[in-house]
Amino acid sequence: MERERLVSKSYHIWTLGCQMNVADSQRLASELEKMGYRAVEDPDSADVLVINTCVVRQSAEDKAVGRLQSLRPVKEKYPDKVIGLMGCMVGVRDPLPLRKRFPYVDVFMAPSQPEPMVRFLQDRGVENDFKAVEDAERARRDAIQDEEILVLPAHERGTLISAHVPVVYGCSHACSFCIIPFRRGVERSRSVGEIVAEVRSLARQGVKEITLLGQIVDRYGKDIPDGPDLSDLLRVVHDAGTAEGLERIRFLTSHPNYMTDKLLDTVAELPHVMPHIEVPVQAGDDEVLARMKRGYTQADYRRLIERIRQRIPGVAIHTDIIVGFPGETEAQFNETYNLLRDLKLDKAHIAKYSPRPQTVSARTMPDDVPEEEKERRRKALDDQQAEIVAEINRRFLGQTVPVLVEDLHGGKWRGRTPQNKLVFFEDHSQDRRGQVVDVEIVWTGPWSMQGRLPGSAPIPLMPVEVEVER
Ligand code: SAH
Repeated sequence: MERERLVSKSYHIWTLGCQMNVADSQRLASELEKMGYRAVEDPDSADVLVINTCVVRQSAEDKAVGRLQSLRPVKEKYPDKVIGLMGCMVGVRDPLPLRKRFPYVDVFMAPSQPEPMVRFLQDRGVENDFKAVEDAERARRDAIQDEEILVLPAHERGTLISAHVPVVYGCSHACSFCIIPFRRGVERSRSVGEIVAEVRSLARQGVKEITLLGQIVDRYGKDIPDGPDLSDLLRVVHDAGTAEGLERIRFLTSHPNYMTDKLLDTVAELPHVMPHIEVPVQAGDDEVLARMKRGYTQADYRRLIERIRQRIPGVAIHTDIIVGFPGETEAQFNETYNLLRDLKLDKAHIAKYSPRPQTVSARTMPDDVPEEEKERRRKALDDQQAEIVAEINRRFLGQTVPVLVEDLHGGKWRGRTPQNKLVFFEDHSQDRRGQVVDVEIVWTGPWSMQGRLPGSAPIPLMPVEVEVER
């Protein structure tokens, strides 16, 4: 009886923040399933409840804290429930202040470190439960032939099409606004062997697209003496991955200063590496860029975009922007506005500046742009960007593009083009998940496109309700 109870142990992971956190949560899930735990959608019913946190802006941290506070009465009512806190809120230092603030949290895990939870649960004896371990091992054997380096959690095995693989942990840059180096520790590149083994393993479990991750991914290998660089890594991942059925490779996030011609030429040359670059500029004004400690000027960034476009035909370029950095004047903001107007990039993630503990900007520069002004600047950029992207996407109208299908959404297949643009199309003939399908684009907007299989009946674009009314 007791054994049965242990075997049915369940977990729920709530993930906030970036793709790195998604990858970290997946690795924790994999470890938990090895121990016989299974995922449940309802957090209230989970025996192990983990919040994987983000603190890049105050709003993200507030979300995590709110959720954490709501767990206090839950833990009081069910003291056997295990509560875990993971990610950038914990950071790489001893979480003593957090232990005091949230005494009902059982386990603290630094970013990308599931081990403390594994050890905690092992000490509670669950792993020693004979049947639980046996069941978990059988599930693993059934799922894949040989010992895999990363066994996907059951709910993703065979269905997850696009996965993330961290290749550089931490960050050693010192952008004055950014908390990440304090929370994720110094830059550490993983070995090519480890990364390739993981990519092959994921491909064998049905994954068709891999995104290599790093805070500054184009610095890959710089911390290894005579190490490989990102372009060397891409070549190895490309050949090993495609041999296992991998269709697409992407990487993010790049820093403008490390985008070598060698890297760009490798992207252009390798057919399964997608023409898609994420390279944040953060601001358009040189004085603001200097105070952000970004290490380049607006002119440098313009030249970089030109170089990327010359070397990778048809490339999509994404950027990140921070508005309302301390001291940013209207004229300085306009530099950013005009830069985006001129460059016509495929996506801009726009964030309002948020002072973060420990950072140089929070310690030495007053957060003096009022919230309403930050919001006005954010919206101005967002509105302009929506028009630019609508215009870029219109060029795809009538074209036939290869779409990697990820899942079914509202009765339509949902997938992405090489440029990472979202496409929906209808097809009831077969299960399209994981296939690269040629789709003719029949409608475009700034956020998505609609397509059809070439030769299929045209899709009525008027909503059906309107026809009924007439
Ligand atoms: N390593 C990447 C970005 C990681 S953080 C880089 O070098 O650009 C993701 C994005 O969050 C950043 O690009 C930035 O636009 C935003 N961000 C980081 N710190 C911020 C802060 N203090 N306030 C507002 N946005 C911030």
